[in-house]
Amino acid sequence: MIPEVVDSLTQALALLNDHWQYFRHQTTAAVSAAGDYAESLQRHLERGFRSMRFDPSLEAAYRDEQFHDSLAFLRINLVMLMALVFAIVQVDRVVIPEFSEAVPGVARVGVMVPILAVGFVLTFGRRASFWYPRVMTPLMTAGLMGIAWIGLLAWALPEDRVFVRLIIATIAVYFILGLRFRLALAANLISIVFYVGAARWFGMPTVVMAQFLAMLLLASVICAAGAYNLEHARRMAWLEGQLLSEIALRDGLTGISNRRRLDQHLQQIWQHGQRERKPVAVLLADIDCFKAYNDHYGHQAGDEALKAVASVHARFGQRALDMVARFGGEEFAVVLFDTGPSEALRVGEEIRQQVRALNLAHAGSAVTPVLTVSVGIASMVPSAKRDCGVLLQAADQALYSAKDAGRDRARLLDVDPDATTR
Ligand code: GH3
Ligand code: MG
Ligand code: MG
Repeated sequence: MIPEVVDSLTQALALLNDHWQYFRHQTTAAVSAAGDYAESLQRHLERGFRSMRFDPSLEAAYRDEQFHDSLAFLRINLVMLMALVFAIVQVDRVVIPEFSEAVPGVARVGVMVPILAVGFVLTFGRRASFWYPRVMTPLMTAGLMGIAWIGLLAWALPEDRVFVRLIIATIAVYFILGLRFRLALAANLISIVFYVGAARWFGMPTVVMAQFLAMLLLASVICAAGAYNLEHARRMAWLEGQLLSEIALRDGLTGISNRRRLDQHLQQIWQHGQRERKPVAVLLADIDCFKAYNDHYGHQAGDEALKAVASVHARFGQRALDMVARFGGEEFAVVLFDTGPSEALRVGEEIRQQVRALNLAHAGSAVTPVLTVSVGIASMVPSAKRDCGVLLQAADQALYSAKDAGRDRARLLDVDPDATTR
């Protein structure tokens, strides 16, 4: 049973690696900003990330996703901890009455509950993934110091059962407060140093101080090891997830986005354009007489030509809401946000000229002896009455008319914004 599971896991990993190598090989040919992202993913998967930090571009995406994925749990944990602090103070009244009298419950609730409440409120804020760790790390460090202080107060009473709570708080900081490994480690180390200083100040004998310190360090080392492993596994799973979606959404030959990603993107942009009342443009470019190119130069050369044409397209649609994709066999699509008809036509014409400027010999072409494309263009302000298919249809119609008019040209289809095509 177990060997079978290991076997199929190894096979799955090998397959993933094959895909990756293939994908990587192909991507090097493509000119695309997203290539850097893929490269970085791959470097981390190969070389690891011992210091628990990715390259800046990946790190920001990881932190953001990780934080939002665990947000519901984090809120539950924070509420649960607040309830726990209240419960402990109640239990103390019965179990350690002399401690409860000496250190008022309000003070003990006052150390942790406000900090946890601040954390809870922060999780609802804008840019929570940015602010939560930055605010909560120093606050939790202070909270741990407060708990150490209360433990020392209790010891002076004399009552040393209270001290165990510092260890419980250590576990909470490492595992359930949503802090990354490095931050949790820093908070704990600082509070341990504080504990040693404060114990001196309380006049705690060195032997007693060392006993508590040993327990504290042991707890911290065990928790740190666990938290490190957990975060390592999380980061690894995230990298693999990213890699899978790269494979699923990228065209294997050219390295640019594939049809699936384009469809997803167009739908989002269509809705965005509706809200913002901004036009969305689609350009469909189709290589002229490409069947003849394959017939004359061979399929391999055809593939090389496709990569070259893809890299021309990749120069366009660089803004955040734009996208360039391989639409089908020898067709490419460019989606441009906030781009009206005349600007879209200018870009289409530019693409046509730049493909021509590649100067790839095409002896079998019925148009000119170099490789050319025909471009169909449509632009409209998205309306709630129609879906984005209408825009693609219009661009396709424009492409058809460009082919019909003799190829190697860009054509714009004037779309009546009020017409409802259904
Ligand atoms: P038109 O000017 O009307 O567009 O003519 P065309 O020959 O370009 O159009 P057609 O649809 O007849 O042929 C498209 C060709 O594109 C056929 C197919 O072999 C080729 N093709 C599609 N995908 C690939 C690919 O991944 N690699 C290569 N080498 N060729 C491909
Ligand atoms: Mg075609
Ligand atoms: Mg064609």
